[in-house]
Amino acid sequence: MSLFHPVNLVCPACNAVFTMPAVGSVNADRRPDLRDDILNDSFQDTVCEACEAEFRLQPEFNYLDVGRGQWIAAMPAGRMPDYLEVEDQVSEVFETSYGSKAPKAAQEIGDGLTVRLTFGWPAVREKILTREAGIDDVALEILKLDMLRNMENARIGPGNELRLVGDMGADLAFAWIASDSEESTGDEFLVARYAYDTIASDPEPYAALREDLTDGPFVDMQKLYVGRGRGAPPLPETDVDAILEEADEE
Ligand SMILES: [Zn+2]
Repeated sequence: MSLFHPVNLVCPACNAVFTMPAVGSVNADRRPDLRDDILNDSFQDTVCEACEAEFRLQPEFNYLDVGRGQWIAAMPAGRMPDYLEVEDQVSEVFETSYGSKAPKAAQEIGDGLTVRLTFGWPAVREKILTREAGIDDVALEILKLDMLRNMENARIGPGNELRLVGDMGADLAFAWIASDSEESTGDEFLVARYAYDTIASDPEPYAALREDLTDGPFVDMQKLYVGRGRGAPPLPETDVDAILEEADEE
């Protein structure tokens, strides 16, 4: 089932108060239209009844697509600095829904699901797009780290994200996007899919990065920059560079 609940909102433009249905969970198998809405950036859009200003609720829902093997906890962009706590909460929700604490029938479904946590609309859209394109999201994050290393004016910073935005076959389209407003902060650009294939087909040189990226459901290269990691401190940027440089030389 896909579940909605009414929420009271204050219009950011005119301060009028009104109610809209906010989504709590999306079942993409039964409601493929909601998946389409996420992909075309219109899901949870709304218009103020008083002044007709348009705005969008931040995501806060669980996304299930059994057919494509995806389970995503989609959280608001602003919660990313607390990703360790949110990872723990989300892992617990999954365990009781489809994991070790769930009924056997649900566990069987859970065995086929990849568990992910995202912050903001551009991130959840990217995970859905990545699966659609047949791309391993961990290898994609390693590709982004490699791209950053070769960019003179890398704009990585809190709230400014590098996201896969399109699959053009031989090329992959990327863009810099503000995680909360979803506004583009630079031009879209293309990277040859070959660059991704090189990383995905030979994972060994990137094993340390892969381990850091998958130590919880938040699989996003930004976690290497956010600060404290899980257990060991996150890899300093220089180590990321060293790993990628060594991989280049092989
Ligand atoms: Zn208004």
